[in-house]
Amino acid sequence: MPQTLLNFEEFNATMPSAATKKTTAKTKKPVARQKSAAQPAHTWTTAKISTILDRLEKAYPDAHLELNFTSPLELLIATIMAAQCLDKLVNQVTAALFKKYRRPEDYVRVPPAELEKDLHPVTFYQNKARLIQRCCQQLLEQHGGKVPADLDALVALPGVGRKTANVVLAHAFGQQTVAVDTHVKRLSTERLHFSAQTDPDKIEMDLRQLFPPARYTRGTILVQWHGRYTCQARRPQCQNCVIAALCPYEKKTS
Ligand code: SF4
Repeated sequence: MPQTLLNFEEFNATMPSAATKKTTAKTKKPVARQKSAAQPAHTWTTAKISTILDRLEKAYPDAHLELNFTSPLELLIATIMAAQCLDKLVNQVTAALFKKYRRPEDYVRVPPAELEKDLHPVTFYQNKARLIQRCCQQLLEQHGGKVPADLDALVALPGVGRKTANVVLAHAFGQQTVAVDTHVKRLSTERLHFSAQTDPDKIEMDLRQLFPPARYTRGTILVQWHGRYTCQARRPQCQNCVIAALCPYEKKTS
């Protein structure tokens, strides 16, 4: 049941669209209001978080990143494409895309309209095609055509925010990272109150304080899967939830 790898803040930071304007406007809240939107994270300890992750591990032993890739470049491209788009749809498109485009040069040399056509029907395919070409151009100019295994270098690439960078570092380079997508954000704030922040980058910092460092990547995937398959946005399935006894959410369903 693949679902989207949303990260609105990251996507909107790179995509000047109507959706961008709408979401950007929403995020312009006074800092004090943002901090009061959720309970503070201090009620959680790393020991309690470990219990949560242990239970989620038993519930989702097969949890994994649902984007298909065989190289750091493919994962970078797929993750850019996955912003506000279903992983399943991205995988359908990349199945052919990655046979045609194997190196950064391949993305740069084609006319923009051709890459746009090859990315269709992925959402925002025109903007994403433009970002992918600029990203690959920068890979060629500054990194010898290789995807850098470095957070600062990755976030300096067009179309790449911290979530995308952390996904690439975790799953292409084996680093322990926390990638805050829409599911991780929802569970970390309004549901489990791991963080009182609303900005994904700040939520990431809170999770880095709470999660055992050796479980950053796995813990993130487990929370993501729990958000996709049990603790959904519209109606969480609290009656089937393996961490219900530990969850502080005020509006649990029965
Ligand atoms: S008890 Fe409900 S709200 Fe809490 S984590 Fe489980 S599904 Fe989500």
